[in-house]
Amino acid sequence: MVILYYQAVMEVRVRIAPSPTGSPHIGTAGQALFDYVFAKKNNGKFILRIEDTDRERYVAEAEEQIYETLEWLGLDVDEGPNVGGDLGPYVQSQRLDIYKKYVLELLEKNQAYKDEGAVRFKTKKLGQTTWHDLVGNKDITFDNKTQDDFVILKSDGYPTYNFANVVDDHLMQISHVIRGNEFISSTPKHIMLYKAFGWAPPQFAHFPVLVGSDRSKLSKRHGAKSALEFRNEGYLKEAVLNFLALLGWSHPKGKEMFDMEELIRLFDFKEVNASSAYFDATKLDWLNGEYIRKTQNSKLKTQIYEYLQNLSGRALTEKDHPTEKEVEKLVPLVKERIKKLSDFIPLTDFFFAGVEYDMEVFNRLKIKDLRFKIEKVLEKMQKMEKPWEADIFESTFRKLAEDLQLSVTQIFQLIRVAVSGQLVTPPLFESIKILGEEKTVKRVGDAISFLKSGWLA
Ligand code: GLU
Repeated sequence: MVILYYQAVMEVRVRIAPSPTGSPHIGTAGQALFDYVFAKKNNGKFILRIEDTDRERYVAEAEEQIYETLEWLGLDVDEGPNVGGDLGPYVQSQRLDIYKKYVLELLEKNQAYKDEGAVRFKTKKLGQTTWHDLVGNKDITFDNKTQDDFVILKSDGYPTYNFANVVDDHLMQISHVIRGNEFISSTPKHIMLYKAFGWAPPQFAHFPVLVGSDRSKLSKRHGAKSALEFRNEGYLKEAVLNFLALLGWSHPKGKEMFDMEELIRLFDFKEVNASSAYFDATKLDWLNGEYIRKTQNSKLKTQIYEYLQNLSGRALTEKDHPTEKEVEKLVPLVKERIKKLSDFIPLTDFFFAGVEYDMEVFNRLKIKDLRFKIEKVLEKMQKMEKPWEADIFESTFRKLAEDLQLSVTQIFQLIRVAVSGQLVTPPLFESIKILGEEKTVKRVGDAISFLKSGWLA
């Protein structure tokens, strides 16, 4: 009964506390996901605090990108700089007076001392510091003599990470600190500070950091990207969230695909992976393709259209910019073939942009008397009654293949290259119908002109 009562009054409050030193790393997004999931699971609060006390590494846009990342992923915060809350302000540079007050308290208690303009915490060298970590369900112990007298207030008047982090986690009533295991070595310092103030420390859960293919901490060297770069490359937030969940946690039934609702329902620290997860980009691509195929066509159309407009980063001239209607027509053709929203562009560019023919691509067809044969294709197309019907189109060119001593594959590849300049496109006849008969005939004519000029050169 006592335990139940305790749980009933003890609200779960978790936070992410990113430092705005650059565009948020994909690992930070993963951390935010687990904080969010744990908060939702326990009807608790998910809080955002900006830890901007390192003024040398401060990057102004990074703060904006933190909000943008959380918004993109749908990890809505309950309290934070942009939404407010009773225990703010939630930006550390706006809390300097608060930290000074607590530094004074430690100075008065003789648990800190001044050192050339800075203030250091006086660590107790005897004994050990232990906490129970929820990841791996184990105790972690440090000998206190390994901890030096660390700085809590710098000479520039800003607190250090260690100090501000503890003061804020206490004042913001954080119940669980969920963060990457690169902070394990800081935790004994934090616990010493809690003790010095006479505060109860929160519970700790240190997740393994992500590693690259060589098993060292994932960094730019491995091609690590910021969370927003994944958005800009055309990954869906559902796939990214699912992927990030799998990096830190395993579904109790070993399932690979699950949504947020299922993750919240099933999440337990028991299944958090105790060892570092390898960032497998191929798996993310696979997952993203699966999510694309699960998306309804109308929704996918909107996603692709918005992606092209806002994020694809290419200059959209009026000429080569597909309209929403055109995207709608193309969605069923590409849905099975794309892994990312950005894959839509190379696959469908030939519809909107002009075709740039390349002799190399024609050579790959390995067809003798190529120009003569394309001219025959053009003749047939010009004679065929419009609108072209799939079965007539098919039988006409099967017959022509026979007459020209080409295989069926060869003739349709030849038409494909003439129409698109590419060896790979969405299904040919459907593509032609979207392009329209007239444009198709014109393209075949263009291909012939290209081949003529090639021969003249
Ligand atoms: N400011 C730290 C960071 O950038 C926060 C670490 C923590 O969660 O305590 O990740």
